[in-house]
Amino acid sequence: MAEHEQVQEHVRVAVIGSGFGGLGAAVRLRREEITDFVVLERAGSVGGTWRDNSYPGCACDVPSHLYSFSFAPNPDWPRTFSGQEHIRAYLEHVTDTFGLRPHIRFDSEVKRMAWDTERLLWEIETVSGNLTADVVVSASGPLSDPKVPDVPGLDSFPGKVFHSARWDHEYDLTGKRVAVIGTGASAIQIVPSIQPKAGHLTLFQRTPAWVMPRMDRAISGAERALHRALPVTTKLRRGLLWGLRELQVQAFTKHPNELGFVEQIAKRNMASAIKDPALRAKLTPGYRIGCKRILLSSTYYPALAQPNVDVVASGLSQVRGSTLVAADGTETEADVIIFGTGFHVTDMPIAERVVGADGRTLAETWKGGMEALRGASAAGFPNWMTIIGPNTGLGNSSMILMIESQLNYMADYLRQLKVLGGRVALDARPAAVRNWNHRVQERMKRTVWNTGGCTSWYLDASGRNTTVWPGTTAEFRRVTRRVDLAEYEVLRTAVAGAAPVADADTNAEVSA
Ligand SMILES: Cc1cc2nc3c(=O)[nH]c(=O)nc-3n(C[C@H](O)[C@H](O)[C@H](O)COP(=O)(O)OP(=O)(O)OC[C@H]3O[C@@H](n4cnc5c(N)ncnc54)[C@H](O)[C@@H]3O)c2cc1C
Repeated sequence: MAEHEQVQEHVRVAVIGSGFGGLGAAVRLRREEITDFVVLERAGSVGGTWRDNSYPGCACDVPSHLYSFSFAPNPDWPRTFSGQEHIRAYLEHVTDTFGLRPHIRFDSEVKRMAWDTERLLWEIETVSGNLTADVVVSASGPLSDPKVPDVPGLDSFPGKVFHSARWDHEYDLTGKRVAVIGTGASAIQIVPSIQPKAGHLTLFQRTPAWVMPRMDRAISGAERALHRALPVTTKLRRGLLWGLRELQVQAFTKHPNELGFVEQIAKRNMASAIKDPALRAKLTPGYRIGCKRILLSSTYYPALAQPNVDVVASGLSQVRGSTLVAADGTETEADVIIFGTGFHVTDMPIAERVVGADGRTLAETWKGGMEALRGASAAGFPNWMTIIGPNTGLGNSSMILMIESQLNYMADYLRQLKVLGGRVALDARPAAVRNWNHRVQERMKRTVWNTGGCTSWYLDASGRNTTVWPGTTAEFRRVTRRVDLAEYEVLRTAVAGAAPVADADTNAEVSA
């Protein structure tokens, strides 16, 4: 043993990340009476998405009473669609209310985790030390690693450059020539928030977005008092919001043509603010609404109509000093470039850090496209599950519903391990993963995301939709209620130090 080598710390469960997913997992573990766990977080505070995205105007696109945990209702949401600071405060509150802080290790970025096939555990390396865990719950977030396109000449830009998820609050935009790159959910919140300050704002738009009016309003004191006095009213409100969104799912997944009338509302939203027909033409999408995420804003179009704003209907293709050159050749002078260009979604960096039973990384395993059994388990990665894994995203409702379904699955997974007893691991059978993914991809063929005539971040490099769930949240809740052991190989270590063996009685093949 090396001089400084110590007995390695071991935990039952290591959770990665402290956003909604990681904090939800921590609450659920405690409810399952599992206290031997840690939450490894690379940043210095909780909140994930809602800590990192502090750009002006950042807010949720799902009403707060639905975009919150069912087990931690908040009667005091100030607005129907709350802003980033309120959601972040809510997550801090959840952390304290459920006593999660002792479990959280901040500034503990996970650099690598590898499955030990002999000992049936995960060896985890973090920047603050190493540990082992029986089970890893990876809640590192589908939208947590900003993506900045590789624009030729960007290095030569003499001004300021930052991504929407890494906003530089020290930098004053007053009077500056600002270039915003992208027209996704973040960009359309940023533009109206900074336009009054900017000297000039140029929006580089590769593809226009469908933008619906945002029905946001302050929640009155009387409503909040009612929710406090009668908690059932908060539940009713949530139930109504949920039900309305469930009713929309068929149109997205089976009958995209029914979405045509929604396009008319979006066009009216545009026409009421944009009087210039040339600008309207630039901003009108050429694909079915819903194909890309439908955006909500009542201030985006009015901002674009202001005299200090230009829309370049083309992507940024080159930077030459302070000159930005669009793909259509348009040249723009800028002092600052703000990238609203999204995240590494189908090429999540965490996948390069997870090494499975055969020594391959998750990124290598997924190079043909991400796939995981019930959105959670990848074959060859025993006792590892991901929250918001492949094909669990939503186009129209709250991701917290999906996270809570995955937490049910996680809880049952841990119960099953306990029932099996001893040093044991579950490894998703390749056939089960293939069957699951095949069914998902078959259903995907009819959805608006695949047929609507757009490319989007829902699709991977090969055009496969590996991100969105092609059903209702109720259906996902049903299919993640229990772990079906027939879908897993049960691995055991027969005697200490020996190679694992599979349980014969649970080796049944999974039918298609
Ligand atoms: C601007 C924005 C707006 C959004 N709006 C909506 C919306 O309106 N409705 C909706 O349903 N969803 C929305 N989303 C999606 C949102 O990401 C999810 O709803 C949800 O917050 C994801 O939670 P999470 O815990 O899975 O991930 P995150 O909140 O991203 O948390 C992941 C955590 O993991 C940590 N982490 C990552 N890698 C490591 C590592 N290697 N080691 C240690 N820690 C690590 C990160 O620091 C982070 O704290 C939005 C996302 C963004 C970016």
